[in-house]
Amino acid sequence: NTFAEIDLGEALNQNIRRCKYVKPTPVQRHAIPISLGGRDLMACAQTGSGKTAAFCFPIISGIMNGQFPQRPRGARTVYPLALILSPTRELSCQIHEEARKFSYQTGVRVVVAYGGAPINQQLRDLERGVDILVATPGRLVDLLERARVSLQMIRYLALDEADRMLDMGFEPQIRKIVEQMDMPQPGVRQTMLFSATFPKEIQRLASDFLSGYIFLAV
Ligand code: AMP
Repeated sequence: NTFAEIDLGEALNQNIRRCKYVKPTPVQRHAIPISLGGRDLMACAQTGSGKTAAFCFPIISGIMNGQFPQRPRGARTVYPLALILSPTRELSCQIHEEARKFSYQTGVRVVVAYGGAPINQQLRDLERGVDILVATPGRLVDLLERARVSLQMIRYLALDEADRMLDMGFEPQIRKIVEQMDMPQPGVRQTMLFSATFPKEIQRLASDFLSGYIFLAV
């Protein structure tokens, strides 16, 4: 019933205390152990449920504890290890802000890229190095087409507010993005899908993008 009981490590626990989180919310209590255990997850979660931490904690913990192949450096293309897709600029910025607090002094680097704003500052942010990329689908497709981001080393994918992304017409972009995640071996990418509702279209996304997933409704 506390974060300390979940095996997130001391650095992350310290940041959780700094954020004044004492008790995990229901979605956190169930989703975090599932994701730490390496399973794909489809979770029903509303705004305000604490879902941001539910997908950020396992990603940060996984990056801190994982062994990853050397990523090419110095080139214009960057190779994030984790991707968090969200429908809007506002939500992306909120996730970025929270993810930065959670990853404070862990060495895990978080960058945000969203549409409707000049791309140049975002390119400079990416060039400084990125482990977790938070992005809106349209802007990410742009970055992929410019070959400024490669998804070949993605190990963690979180789709936040998936139903809203589909309502906004992002399904073609999302499919294009996920197609680019080259899996060196099956099951290397761990995927978390968060949605407030579960119409057929979301179930189809889940069966296309997730493997052997656990369904969580809290
Ligand atoms: P979210 O649903 O991720 O947008 O989170 C809603 C709000 O709850 C945000 O302001 C979070 O910082 C806060 N929050 C998330 N998890 C916890 C927690 N375990 N304890 C206290 N506040 C939390």
